Amino acid sequence: MRQLGIIGGMSWESTASYYRLLNQGVRERLGGLHSAPLLLHSVDFAGIAALQKQGDWDAAGRQLAAAAQGLERAGATALLLATNTMHKVAPAIAAAVEIPLLHIGDAVGQALQRQGVTRAALLGTRFTLQEDFYRQRLAERFGIQVIVPAPAQIEEIDRVIFAELCQGQFQDSARAFYLDCLAQLQEQGAEVAILGCTEIGLLLEGTNAALPLLDSTELHVAMGLEWLLDGAGRAG
Ligand code: GLU
Repeated sequence: MRQLGIIGGMSWESTASYYRLLNQGVRERLGGLHSAPLLLHSVDFAGIAALQKQGDWDAAGRQLAAAAQGLERAGATALLLATNTMHKVAPAIAAAVEIPLLHIGDAVGQALQRQGVTRAALLGTRFTLQEDFYRQRLAERFGIQVIVPAPAQIEEIDRVIFAELCQGQFQDSARAFYLDCLAQLQEQGAEVAILGCTEIGLLLEGTNAALPLLDSTELHVAMGLEWLLDGAGRAG
C-alpha cells in the first residue's frame, strides 16, 4: 500500500494545509470515507530555524534525514518535505533513504512548463530567493527565468515569513507589502508568481494580485496525490 511520509512543522501552519489538502484530494477522487494514508514527522521549527540562521545546513540535513529514515521504517513509501527552504538539504535527505523524495521544485517547474511560462517571479525566504538550490533547479530542469524582488524587499519578505506567517499571523500590512512586490515584478516582465514558501498562500488567499499565483503548497500536494493515487511517482 502507498503511504506518504510528510516531514513537516516548518511551519506547522503550512503543514496543516498539507494535511487538509491531501485528505480533501483523496476524498474528491475516491469519495465516501476515503482519506489519505499519511505519516507525519513534525519537527520543532525553532531548532531548524536556528540552524538556518547559523548556516549549519549540515546539521539541519542530518536531522531531517533522520526524520526521513524514521518515516521510511514506519512504512512510508514516498516523502514530502513540506517546506521550500529546506529543499536546500534535499540531497542529504534523498541519500539517506530508499524511497523517493517528491521534490517541491519539480512540482512547481512541471506546473510552469504545463502553462508554457518561461519568466516567473519568485517569493520566499531569503535562502530560497538568493541561493542557487531552488532557482537553479527551475532554470536547468525547466528552462524558467526566475525574477526576484529587490534586496531590501527580500529582507522584508523574509522577516514577515519568520516573524509573522510562521507564527500564525496573517496581517493586512504584510499582505499589502507582498502585493506591491508582485506588482513591481509584473512590471519587470514576470508572467506568473511562484509562492515559493509554503505559508504565503495563507496570506494571499482571496487577494487580487497583479500576477497569477502558483502556490508551491498546492502544487506539492498535487504531486503527492498523484503519486498516492496514480501509481508511478515522479521522484526528484
Ligand atoms: N515554509 C517556508 C518555506 O516553504 C519557510 C520555513 C522554512 O524556512 O522552512 O520555505
